[in-house]
Amino acid sequence: MVLEITKYGNPVLRQKGAKIETVNAEIKKLIADMFETMEANHGVGLAAQQIGKALQLTVIDVRGAQKDRPSTLELDGKPADIEEIMPLVLINPEVTPVGEKVKGSEGCLSFPEIFGEISRPESVDVKALNEKGKPISFRCGGLLARAVQHETDHLNGLLFIDRMDKKTKAELQDELDELQAQTKLELKKKS
Ligand code: ZN
Repeated sequence: MVLEITKYGNPVLRQKGAKIETVNAEIKKLIADMFETMEANHGVGLAAQQIGKALQLTVIDVRGAQKDRPSTLELDGKPADIEEIMPLVLINPEVTPVGEKVKGSEGCLSFPEIFGEISRPESVDVKALNEKGKPISFRCGGLLARAVQHETDHLNGLLFIDRMDKKTKAELQDELDELQAQTKLELKKKS
């Protein structure tokens, strides 16, 4: 089922996600719905907060971008094909930055049509549980590293606008204010 995506201004986007203790039927359904929602919106990642749930759960699939914005993967210290872990489910992820920061363009399904350059470490080490509740670990780079960091930020109530430099954010401020006001108005109508 394609779910509604929460937009900037919705307080759930600022909530830290609760840890998931067991991958039960409810979580499995949520994962399936999150993939469907992400694909319907042509995203490469989606965090639970973006469908209104403050949980430590995110889904990622960067395969469609491999040509234009490649990703790299290392499993047990050896280069691996990203297909090995795609599509990716991360539950309770722990992310450790590796390497220098690099700039790259980012968007977010909770901020339609808003894009900005963000500096982030070029690689990360990731530890998490997968959709079966099994521990996984890997090192990744390129778009996958960026997606993992963007989504893990969501799980902690952080948004990509918090990572923008002052100038970029200032240029987008009017659009951001407008989106936030519109979201708040829609939430008010629903309540
Ligand atoms: Zn996002």
